[in-house]
Amino acid sequence: MEKDNVCINCSNQIDKVAKILKLGEAELDILTIPKRILTFSFPVKLDSGEIRYFTGYRVQFNDARGPTKGGIRFHPEVNLEEIKTLAFLMTLKCAVVNLPYGGAKGGVMIEPKRFSANELERISRGYIREINNFIGPDVDIPAPDVNTDSKIMAWMLDEYEKLKGRHIPAAITGKPIALSGSKGREYSTSMGGAYVLNEMADSFGMNPKKTSVAVQGFGNVGMNIARILHEWGYKVIAVSDSHGGIFNQKGFGIKDVIGHKNKTGRLSKFKGAKEISNEELLELKADVLVPAALEDQITKKNAGKIKAKLILEMANRPITPEADEILLKKNIKVIPDILANAGGVVVSYFEWVQNSQNYYWSESLVLERLKIYMAHAVKELSRTCTDFKCDMRESLYVDAIKKVLEAERLRGNLR
Ligand code: NAD
Repeated sequence: MEKDNVCINCSNQIDKVAKILKLGEAELDILTIPKRILTFSFPVKLDSGEIRYFTGYRVQFNDARGPTKGGIRFHPEVNLEEIKTLAFLMTLKCAVVNLPYGGAKGGVMIEPKRFSANELERISRGYIREINNFIGPDVDIPAPDVNTDSKIMAWMLDEYEKLKGRHIPAAITGKPIALSGSKGREYSTSMGGAYVLNEMADSFGMNPKKTSVAVQGFGNVGMNIARILHEWGYKVIAVSDSHGGIFNQKGFGIKDVIGHKNKTGRLSKFKGAKEISNEELLELKADVLVPAALEDQITKKNAGKIKAKLILEMANRPITPEADEILLKKNIKVIPDILANAGGVVVSYFEWVQNSQNYYWSESLVLERLKIYMAHAVKELSRTCTDFKCDMRESLYVDAIKKVLEAERLRGNLR
């Protein structure tokens, strides 16, 4: 029988796991059909006085383990299928790191660079007005994602609180610290990934001091993970942004690179560095490759040329499924996104807990607790890999799907 709203990508992604766990039709429906899909169009007055309509989405994929959680992105290529897939991945990610959350994602189809700050504020407020009756601390909790930041979260929270007539800081995470945000949230995604890499270093026979790293993307995630790994003694030999990359076999002092980028707006012309393209960066002979930019960067076209021993997926879905197969055959290990970049949602959870208790933690306590969550997830992954004899991605899917289905079963939604 044909079914509405099935997430095609999700079906493809769980094919193998469905066989391993012998999933039946009801289970597959839970894992491929989102619980709630909101698609809407909303008007915003531009600075010129013209009124423009914007398309927005919010998908709440599964809430069996708790309120749904996931970011809101502003991007011209936002579309419903992508938002469904990312909401599915959030469901798995929250289960992998044992958060009491389900998964969601939202987005607005816009090129944010084309709008003024005042227009972006009105777009953010307009988006929240559309979804305000479907979100809340116990229902669905948005956060930042691509092209949205703490400033946008502040506008969204303010609009939500105005509509509800009271303070509800736990309704949105990723807020500025002055507006009930959490210390450490800004670089938590990168810190979580760095903890995972360190936890696994031994099992890959890696000594940080002798390990070279190439990082693609120099935004929030890429810049912070380059900085943290450099501080921990790793040799960061290449970094890049959308304009291109820089390389130095001896490694960079990342603080100087950040200073140069802040001053000139570019990575190029950094003293002592060779300029390389983004394609060249991905194909460098580095021990660890860290894609931290966008989706679909390693595809069947370039997977065969990758020389890194290990890939730490800090971006969401940077490797296509076809490329994944090629890397597996080449015995290149991949630490998948739903574990590698889960540090951000872990500290978002800490922010929600602090907001709910009205009691705020020190930065060192946030980091200490983040490390515990990430280390625990690594241990669970190693156990699942052994028990099911699967690669890391399959094992994380197996573990997360089992947790989601168990919650559904306990609720009486599955036999
Ligand atoms: P960002 O917008 O701050 O930075 C993105 C960076 O990628 C920029 O430096 C940009 O110049 C660069 N870039 C764009 N296209 C590129 C290309 N073709 N080659 C090389 N660099 C390119 O975004 P971010 O918050 O750092 O997020 C990066 C990735 O991490 C995204 O996939 C996002 O979904 C994922 N992620 C982010 C968080 C978070 O907390 N920020 C959490 C989980 C996952």
